[in-house]
Amino acid sequence: MKPKHTREFDQRLEELVEMARAAQRRAQSYRGFRVGAVALAFNGREYRAFAGINMKPLEDGPKICAEQVAVGGAIASGYGTVIGLVVIGEPQPNEERTLTLHPCWVCRTLLPPLPAISRDTIVVTEQASNGRHRERHTIGDLLKRHGQHSHS
Ligand SMILES: [Zn+2]
Repeated sequence: MKPKHTREFDQRLEELVEMARAAQRRAQSYRGFRVGAVALAFNGREYRAFAGINMKPLEDGPKICAEQVAVGGAIASGYGTVIGLVVIGEPQPNEERTLTLHPCWVCRTLLPPLPAISRDTIVVTEQASNGRHRERHTIGDLLKRHGQHSHS
């Protein structure tokens, strides 16, 4: 990751967090489990933030994650380098039975092979409750932590 990309993400972090909080309120979940995500992406000239929400309107229907919507929106608009993601929602128990907001197994499998994502792509999570507990990782860290390999 170029230092200028990391700097841009750091400078915009609070703005990205606000945008993710707003998205979280708009998420679509039959059980009120709402997640908002924002991807800060670069198109070779400028940066833009793309919001995403989780959608699972039916209990026995499919779901799509906020991270997938945000990253897909960036790529679809020609912003092919995702600098970082901010994810806001209620923590969920993961495979290790700890409460986190780390991207789920599907996201950890689907997103890293995309050319827009690198090992250095930043992932900031903020729990909507629990004192707004915040964590900062990279995609590479998260894959390692959850025992998955990276493709890039
Ligand atoms: Zn996911």
